[in-house]
Amino acid sequence: LTRLYTPLTALANLRVDIMTALVSFERIFEVLDLEPAITEHPDARRIPAGEVSVELRDVRFAYPPAEHVSLASLEEVATLDSREGEQVLNGVDFRVQAGRTVALVGASGAGKSTIASLVPRLYDVDTGSVRLAGVDVREVSFASLRETVGVVAQDGHLFHDTIRENLAYASRDATEEQMYAALDRARLGSLVASLPDGLDTVVGDRGYRLSGGERQRLTIARLLLAQPRVVVLDEATAHLDAESEAAVAAALADALDGRTALIIAHRLSTIRSADQILVVDGGTIVERGTHQELLEAGGRYADLYRTQFAETEPAA
Ligand code: ADP
Ligand code: MG
Repeated sequence: LTRLYTPLTALANLRVDIMTALVSFERIFEVLDLEPAITEHPDARRIPAGEVSVELRDVRFAYPPAEHVSLASLEEVATLDSREGEQVLNGVDFRVQAGRTVALVGASGAGKSTIASLVPRLYDVDTGSVRLAGVDVREVSFASLRETVGVVAQDGHLFHDTIRENLAYASRDATEEQMYAALDRARLGSLVASLPDGLDTVVGDRGYRLSGGERQRLTIARLLLAQPRVVVLDEATAHLDAESEAAVAAALADALDGRTALIIAHRLSTIRSADQILVVDGGTIVERGTHQELLEAGGRYADLYRTQFAETEPAA
């Protein structure tokens, strides 16, 4: 499993997440002869038992430049962002107390997803640190990171493997019954049950093709099953149809209860109930406070609220 984790993080550096469904990780690294960018510390330790706070301390970060890749089969890599190498985070500093929920809001391109991706250590920071329960994530074992931090991102990261393996990623001991319970809560249980191979169906481009919404629901089921102490949600229900969104959002809200959460949401209702809201702009936090405080301040959040949220949802 460590082998699975390492290439996944390195793949993210290449921005070829889409490829994970097409080729096995090891194959890509064989072909490209690349070293994974994120490596496990030789004396890596576990995050201690108990509640876990999340902290970013003066984090600066630029996406690593892509390796030279000329293979035709990897043409996607060539579509890398032209702004790559530019500073994306310019001193981000905040703390999510154990058991609390912090929401990130801001315009597209502000750096919200980048901040979210640093918590499970998909990338390493250039300066500053990311800490879980006070421990620098670079000193934490991959196994402990995987167990501690659960992520649901906009595009569900799946392994080209069976549904069972994708679910068990962060909870090896889960029973079939528990897997189906999680799938049901993510509104995916009946689909999986209807497949000839059920949980043993291989997903991905060479296997059963899940839609964007189904992929996202599978990663949500993975999170519900694992019940990690830290939950990172990056527009976790963005691909769900209105019908399943309400139910799945409710299951996710349950999953946040009592846990430490960092959420990027496109729904005002989710943001409004956060303990603290951070407004991200240009790779830094420009405002922080509760929904009420920020509205009264009449600054960026108040603007966003009017332009981005008020239209989609009636104000309380
Ligand atoms: P947000 O989630 O707030 O929309 P992001 O964190 O996705 O913002 O993006 C912040 C900046 O980083 C943008 O300029 C974006 O183009 C750039 N960026 C995002 N992901 C990558 C990546 N994998 N490689 C290079 N640049 C990236
Ligand atoms: Mg984003």
